[in-house]
Amino acid sequence: MATNSELQTVGGAVADAPPPAQVLVIYAGGTIGMEAGERGLVPGRDFADRMSSALATLPVERRSGLPDYELRESPTPIDSSSAKPSDWSHIAELIAAHYQDYCGFVVLHGTDTLAWCASTLTFQLQGLTKPVIVTGSQRPLGVHASDALANLEAALTFAASDSLREVGLVFGGRLLRGCRTRKIYTHDTRGFESPNCPILGEIVDGDAKLHVDRFLANQGAPRFELVSLPETASVVRLPLWPGMDPALVARWLEMESVRGGVLECWGSGNLPEDAALIGVLAQAVGAGKTLVAVSQCPVGSLNVGAYASGETLNEIGVLSGDDMTTEAAFCKLLHLLSQQLPLPEVRRRFLTPLSGERSTLSVAPDRAPQAEDASTG
Ligand code: ASP
Repeated sequence: MATNSELQTVGGAVADAPPPAQVLVIYAGGTIGMEAGERGLVPGRDFADRMSSALATLPVERRSGLPDYELRESPTPIDSSSAKPSDWSHIAELIAAHYQDYCGFVVLHGTDTLAWCASTLTFQLQGLTKPVIVTGSQRPLGVHASDALANLEAALTFAASDSLREVGLVFGGRLLRGCRTRKIYTHDTRGFESPNCPILGEIVDGDAKLHVDRFLANQGAPRFELVSLPETASVVRLPLWPGMDPALVARWLEMESVRGGVLECWGSGNLPEDAALIGVLAQAVGAGKTLVAVSQCPVGSLNVGAYASGETLNEIGVLSGDDMTTEAAFCKLLHLLSQQLPLPEVRRRFLTPLSGERSTLSVAPDRAPQAEDASTG
């Protein structure tokens, strides 16, 4: 990924598009721009020409409805499976540096870590007053049955919306809240779901339908928190598995470079009643590491304390991530820990919805276990 200063303007405009609203498109890499290499697909360059040629194949009435755009291309586009948190900081810096110059932004990025990129941008670009749309594709632009052109067209369309003021992920004709998404499909052109947040918009018969009532409310003015994220994350993921050895968890949490962890619990926030494991987690919290919990179930929220085995999380000071995705919880924690914030402030802000990343209800009502169905959580 290029640094902010390395990214160059190389692109043109959509033929016949009406001029006023101009979108900045940032090409960071991913399948959308990939080409065949000796060992398989590799990130390709010169995306500007390929993109304008592809858009030129659209029927004229669709082309003319798209906003004008300018493309900035990374000189070293990457496969996003190699993306690092610092890469997303560079994208956020680029958007912030040109925030006044464009009516919206599109980030073209690989799908493997697109939800992580969207989550990071959400926390860096708080209080957006215009759309930032991330997208990619399952098949490269220009190959048979590619979804790339449809995603580009939809992304440009949603990026020109004057009512959307948040980071959205556009894929398979749907607009999703970026920080609520997960890549669910390896090949299907739907690509992503936002299991705990309804879709924000969709393309129906070629027209963009916006669910404006679901958009984030106008947050006043930008409150960007441009944090230079590291290449190596100081946060770890700790998924539970049956029979896990607490000593392994201890090794990770004892490392000085590890400042926080996302504990991926069972169901509504349960963990094994294993004194050694609980001791390891409690010791880490006591040593000033911030531990947060999310569920391994993609749909629904934690309800920490519904079960005795989950109440332990409260007792040892692990914070509830409610219905956040692992991606959002991880990126939020890394974002907070990468600033010079006192620990109580990190904890307070983690629990506070900053930009739509968690539902304001601590438990989605339809998911809260009742006394009589407590065995189902
Ligand atoms: N490995 C690719 C990437 O994330 C996959 C994709 O874009 O769909 O860059």
